[in-house]
Amino acid sequence: MKSFKQIFNEAENKIAGIAAAPGIVISKVYLFTKEKIKINDGEITDIEEAVSNLYEAIEKSKKELNKIFSIAKEKMEETRAAIFEAQVMILDDPILIENIIKRIRSEKRQPEYIVHDEISKYQDLMRMSHESYMSERAQDIEDIKNRIIRNLQKRRWKSKITNDLIVVSDSLTPADTILLSRCNVKGFVTDHGGLTSHAAIISRSLNIPAVVGTHNATSTIKDGDNIIVDGFHGYILINPNDEQLKFFKKKLEHLIELRKGLEEFKDKPALTNDGHEIQLMANVDVTGEMDIVISSGAKGIGLYRTEQIIEELGEFPGEQEQTTIYSKLSSRIYPDNIIIRAFDIGGDKVKFLNFEEPNPFLGMRGIRVLLENKLIFKTQIRAVLKASKDKNVQFMLPMVSTISEIRKSKEIIDECKRELKSDKIPFDKQMKIGIMVEVPSAAVMAREFALEVDFLSIGTNDLIQYLMAVDRGNDFVSDLYQEFSPAVVRTISHIVIEAKKAGKPVSLCGEMAGDTLAIPLLVGLGINSLSLSPATIPYAKRIISKFSFEKAQELSNDCLNSLTETEIQHKIEHFFKIHDITRTRNII
Ligand code: PEP
Ligand code: MG
Repeated sequence: MKSFKQIFNEAENKIAGIAAAPGIVISKVYLFTKEKIKINDGEITDIEEAVSNLYEAIEKSKKELNKIFSIAKEKMEETRAAIFEAQVMILDDPILIENIIKRIRSEKRQPEYIVHDEISKYQDLMRMSHESYMSERAQDIEDIKNRIIRNLQKRRWKSKITNDLIVVSDSLTPADTILLSRCNVKGFVTDHGGLTSHAAIISRSLNIPAVVGTHNATSTIKDGDNIIVDGFHGYILINPNDEQLKFFKKKLEHLIELRKGLEEFKDKPALTNDGHEIQLMANVDVTGEMDIVISSGAKGIGLYRTEQIIEELGEFPGEQEQTTIYSKLSSRIYPDNIIIRAFDIGGDKVKFLNFEEPNPFLGMRGIRVLLENKLIFKTQIRAVLKASKDKNVQFMLPMVSTISEIRKSKEIIDECKRELKSDKIPFDKQMKIGIMVEVPSAAVMAREFALEVDFLSIGTNDLIQYLMAVDRGNDFVSDLYQEFSPAVVRTISHIVIEAKKAGKPVSLCGEMAGDTLAIPLLVGLGINSLSLSPATIPYAKRIISKFSFEKAQELSNDCLNSLTETEIQHKIEHFFKIHDITRTRNII
């Protein structure tokens, strides 16, 4: 059978975008085109009537948004639904309203023209920041602007959507996403928007597969077309041929088959069939994923990537803002633990420097940036400490390559602790500090590094990149990015053995932990804690329940003696076969 890669490579009817919410759907398209709003910029004679119309339109908009807010609260976590509450608050902003009224009075122009002009000015400012988060928020404000104008023109929100369709649209405001989802929408595809667009976040919360940022979906796909949306890989196939349909129908059947019986694992620990427990924790990228984390049965959060906050906000969050975010997450996951990772800035992630580095992955990244920018580092440490008072927060350093980086970081952490203590602010005095092992130098020195900290977490995404000298995002060398390379397997084994010699726990939080095919090997290598995408946790539990720790050790010993990636892969596949585990990689 062909692989996804082959199917997509051969397809001429495909468009690609960002995989924003996982899942596969095949259905007919509802092309959601918003009516172009025509703005009347004429003069007015009755100013008082215009002002009263404005107030009426604002009240109506508030009512609509409150209604959407209550639908949203039913459908998703309250903090997510708060987007709509925030929109109502904008409508309550006295400065904005006063400005609009002042201009209606002085310019004597139609209120819809002034509303459009005034709110567009805010949006332009936001768009100018060039940060993805800010331009997404400018898009949300578009929704408020159009809502007031529509209400001034006394028109209604119209959509002719029927049930069970895939919505294709230029962009989707949070309100569109919520209202459309009431018609049992099967999937979302948009021209614009990124991973942090609210349409993407809401789709993930509602479990509706979505591909965003395709650029050309609305110009390529027609209303009523039949399409396949693959929210795992970020592709859409338009009017698929028989082969493609057959392939994806099979994948769907396979997905349904895989989901059967998963519920029973949800609240159980992950145990091998001889009772060896593996702790399965969740990786969290955006705070909106907490619902899935809770429902996945995760034993805590093994990696919270805080740099995503900068991505979402478009700027460094202040101490108070960070404290609020970390406290919310830690209390939500309590009594389980959350490992908050210090900002991993640089590389291909959030840019910090205003100059280009010749080799960003080998340059100012992670702990290197933080030690050079003590203020940013201290702000984050103080916020993490403040959120730690219930003793379920741990702190982890990314991209560590020398012992002195660990020691310098610990000194800064102690300095923050002294400050909080003298200000009588409560925090966990024993808060555990760990490091990511993702640079070969840290792997080689694992025992000595482990002696300096409380725990290690192996970051295979970077470890493979640095060990194999392959850029993790470069397609040309993707064949060399081998998680089952003997060098990678032996390095992981070395880290585990050395950490154990130092008496420190070691977990693994790279994507390899979520590759279901890798699980028996990692268990056999002696890793007793994995952090992975929450959606994969129930699948991982089921796989772990199918084999014994002893057999997993035999498998890993066998793999440690292998010389090629293919050899190791075949051994694992054979292991899956004899243990009657559905051969599964990355779930599907
Ligand atoms: C890793 O490198 O494996 C890791 C988990 O960190 P990130 O993917 O955020 O670099
Ligand atoms: Mg990393």
